[in-house]
Amino acid sequence: MSEPAAPTTAPDAATTAGSGLPFPPPHEEVVTVWHRRTGLQAVVAIHSTVRGPSLGGTRFHSYPHLDAAVADALNLSQAMTYKAAVAGLPLGGGKAVIVGDPEQVKSPELLADYATVLEGLEGRYITAEDVGTSQQDMDFLSEHTKFVAGTSLARGGSGDPSPVTAFGVLRAMEAAALVRWGSTDLAGRHVAVNGVGKVGGELARLLLGKGCHLSVADVSRRALDAVATSPEVEVVAVEAIHAAPCDIYAPCALGGALDDVTVPALRCEMVVGAANNQLSRRDLADELHARDVTYVPDYVANAGGLINIANEHLGYDYDRARQQVAGIFDTTEALLRRAQEDGTTPLAAAEVIAEERLREGRPR
Ligand code: NAD
Repeated sequence: MSEPAAPTTAPDAATTAGSGLPFPPPHEEVVTVWHRRTGLQAVVAIHSTVRGPSLGGTRFHSYPHLDAAVADALNLSQAMTYKAAVAGLPLGGGKAVIVGDPEQVKSPELLADYATVLEGLEGRYITAEDVGTSQQDMDFLSEHTKFVAGTSLARGGSGDPSPVTAFGVLRAMEAAALVRWGSTDLAGRHVAVNGVGKVGGELARLLLGKGCHLSVADVSRRALDAVATSPEVEVVAVEAIHAAPCDIYAPCALGGALDDVTVPALRCEMVVGAANNQLSRRDLADELHARDVTYVPDYVANAGGLINIANEHLGYDYDRARQQVAGIFDTTEALLRRAQEDGTTPLAAAEVIAEERLREGRPR
């Protein structure tokens, strides 16, 4: 699952487990678990169920200490609330972490034990895949609990979300193009795609279909070879892609693509990409705004994966999910226009929209 950078409080405030959130945190429920029998050490953070059950991935990761795991779960779950609310989904925000190196400690016994923890939460938290967990793990969990999403198509789940996520990013680009350039038409535009894996690779193919020229970068030769198949695609070094002169820069690799080094070097008019946590610091959104670069918040552009998964409870249907993901166009256009009207950044406008929706409560 994917998650945006959560809004945080002032750094000098008393915080919970170093999360930057006040003590006690604004969350509805936080559960920590230690089961010696299976080695399960987990934190489940339910930030909000105001709009529906909280949904967010389970991250399986080696944290240096429990506080770091709690901090991650608190921040990531709050961010999921905002992501779901801006996407207009009837979902709240939650996130779980399992502490440990998945290569070393993941076992069927541990996952079955974790499923028991999820059952105990009675659906207030629904898990999905994240860093360190896989679709196979979700399939396994689904044998022990119904509170799991993102299982394989064979299990009645929604399968790999990457193609629809890429489609959603394209729709976000088209909306941003309309607001910035007065037309959704991307033909002839130059897009720099950083990371051409599952989402970035598909996005590159979609953009070529729209008549764009591409600069692409990736650390994987195999990933590059799969997209650099036409004269419209130029391969650029990973260290240089952010500074490529282009119309749109699309970070589609790891988080933190926008930092103190890359932001001043950008030579694009817009940043619209799939990667999570693109901003290494929240106030870089202000800097982008000051430099007249339109930044579509990552969690708005990449919401396709979450929208896709949210479709599972209706009985997954690819065409319906894709149609809903197409709505990222309207969401992006509305928030960019709102930002223009309010004189704020798109990120601030997205947060205002999320908070309004949270005040409205559960969607009908
Ligand atoms: P992926 O692993 O398939 O692709 C990532 C690509 O980035 C790989 O080809 C990898 O070689 C490349 N890469 C790694 N380090 C790099 C670097 N330093 N510079 C350039 N390229 C580098 O992952 P993905 O599923 O395509 O996800 C891409 C991003 O989008 C991630 O941040 C992910 O969290 C986010 N996201 C994905 C989805 C989804 O549906 N898969 C949904 C929402 C958000």
